[in-house]
Amino acid sequence: MRIIENSQEMAQACREACRPLGLVPTMGALHEGHLTLVRRARQENQRLAVSIFVNPTQFSQGEDLSRYPRDLERDLALLRQEGVDLVYAPSSKEIYPPGFDTWVDPGALADRLEGAARPGHFRGVATVVTKLFNLVRPDRAYFGQKDGQQVLVIQRLVLDLNLGVEVVVVPTVREPDGLALSTRNSYLTPEQRKAAPVIFRALSQALVLHRHGMAGGEELRSVVRRILELEPLVEQIEYVSLADCGTLEELDVIAGRAMLSVAVRLGQTRLIDNLILY
Ligand code: AMP
Repeated sequence: MRIIENSQEMAQACREACRPLGLVPTMGALHEGHLTLVRRARQENQRLAVSIFVNPTQFSQGEDLSRYPRDLERDLALLRQEGVDLVYAPSSKEIYPPGFDTWVDPGALADRLEGAARPGHFRGVATVVTKLFNLVRPDRAYFGQKDGQQVLVIQRLVLDLNLGVEVVVVPTVREPDGLALSTRNSYLTPEQRKAAPVIFRALSQALVLHRHGMAGGEELRSVVRRILELEPLVEQIEYVSLADCGTLEELDVIAGRAMLSVAVRLGQTRLIDNLILY
């Protein structure tokens, strides 16, 4: 496994790599969710690159950038076990050298939900993903359904800018109690951790009701909201959304694929999750 910090060196290694070449972009602090993406990508490609970069431009002011967990040695050991060929682990200066001033600005899809709660978030994501795609030139790139809106923004980006990368979406990996794996789960106190599966319970209840014929957007959103409100450790419900998968516009009635998604705060910790209803 080659570990590379320098952009030119990474680009060169990727140009020389056998094809197809897969890429899994991550911010490190790897867990089973990340490793599931890595395993899928390992099966489907001749060569596999993983990037580890805590991208400062996708964090808003006051977010957890400085305390975001970092453990490169542990991450590298895990990736070695998975048979990864190339790891790109650049510094912030390598990605954003002095004078850096060009941005990829995604449109309306990026203004809603996470984009409304975290202004500039998807501009940071779209910019770094474009840079990674340009450096690595992967045939396929792997993203988790856990970050459902991110998937939609990246699919749009790839289409709109003709990036020519196949975007592979991997289902959300969950703990046995339903909580979606996330680096931010490590911020939870033991009591908050016990309460957190309420998110998946609320989404699942709406999914079941939808399967039994409930199709009204407001009805389904209130089911989720009511269940979340029963948990006192959920201090804030930032949004409950039932939106069209193409446009992310809120739905009055489900027709076609819809994303039911939530963002809540347990204390200081902000958690997101989603299920697709169809
Ligand atoms: P991150 O390091 O948080 O930027 O995540 C890197 C990639 O892993 C993203 O595409 C995430 O959507 C994906 N990911 C994170 N958690 C999970 C999970 N529980 N299940 C599936 N994919 C995940």
